[in-house]
Amino acid sequence: MEKEKYQVLLYYKFVPIDDHEQFATEHLEFCKNLGLKGRILVSHNGINGTVSGTVEQTNAYMEKMHADPRFEDIFFKIDEHDGHAFKKMHVRPRKELVTLRLEEPVDPNELTGEYLKPNEFYEAMQDENTVILDTRNDYEYDVGHFRGAIRPDIHSFRELPDWVKENKHLLEGKRVLTYCTGGIRCEKFTGWLMKEGIEDVAQLEGGIVTYGKDPEVQGKLWDGLCYVFDNRLTVPINRTEHVVVGKDHFDGKPCERYVNCADPVCNKQILCSEENEHKYLRGCTDACRRSPNNLYVKEHGLTKEEVEERLKAIEQEKQEV
Ligand SMILES: [Zn+2]
Repeated sequence: MEKEKYQVLLYYKFVPIDDHEQFATEHLEFCKNLGLKGRILVSHNGINGTVSGTVEQTNAYMEKMHADPRFEDIFFKIDEHDGHAFKKMHVRPRKELVTLRLEEPVDPNELTGEYLKPNEFYEAMQDENTVILDTRNDYEYDVGHFRGAIRPDIHSFRELPDWVKENKHLLEGKRVLTYCTGGIRCEKFTGWLMKEGIEDVAQLEGGIVTYGKDPEVQGKLWDGLCYVFDNRLTVPINRTEHVVVGKDHFDGKPCERYVNCADPVCNKQILCSEENEHKYLRGCTDACRRSPNNLYVKEHGLTKEEVEERLKAIEQEKQEV
């Protein structure tokens, strides 16, 4: 029997939505009725979503959305997949679609950086007077990024403006190219950057995901994988070569395998080999390994003595180094 094909959609649109809370309630019903799963944010000035479903379900969704005058030109990035990429369906009303924590709001429909198509971005990256700025979080950068891109030391998008203020010298006098997963973060961020006095700002239209699908550039100059916010965790981008940039949390060796820390309170995503997962009881720190709720210990039915033995072995190895 042939397995049913699924699709993952990624999309956003900045457009006024009156009574976005009511819209969110109705949209959730609509998505559930279609059988979709995913996460959608709705604010008074737009929608940002990623959903999965069968080809039939997702096509029906796109068709319905395009029939709504507000979303008639919304662009859907489509990935094929072998099942749902989410466990549940959420539609959440929000004050802002993407939060930058600014004193003054920036409306991408009024001010935003120049849009570059994938081939234009590819050319621009190779220009000498260019700096490439990754607008994503540190853990997203660490598993894959454009070659030579600056890595802001941030855990959340809202921290980016402060980071820029402290590191403005890296950008001044240069042509600044920004990119993010699907493009929405750059829409807002580039406008802010221009307000801050950086004049020459351009953004990758459609984000990394679109870049990876472009038949001409084929994801060139992308190293590693692209982090995505669904069950897939990462997707490939560069179709001409694969350079591993991810590093094992424990030994720093090249690694692209994500696991969640076994301490449910921590639950941090870390890169680690299968071997190190066993060795370190899938705990990102000593405290996480010792947690009484450590899921690895439960899954493997380890006795207290067995846990102690492994922790002791880690200690011993540390002292030998
Ligand atoms: Zn942990």
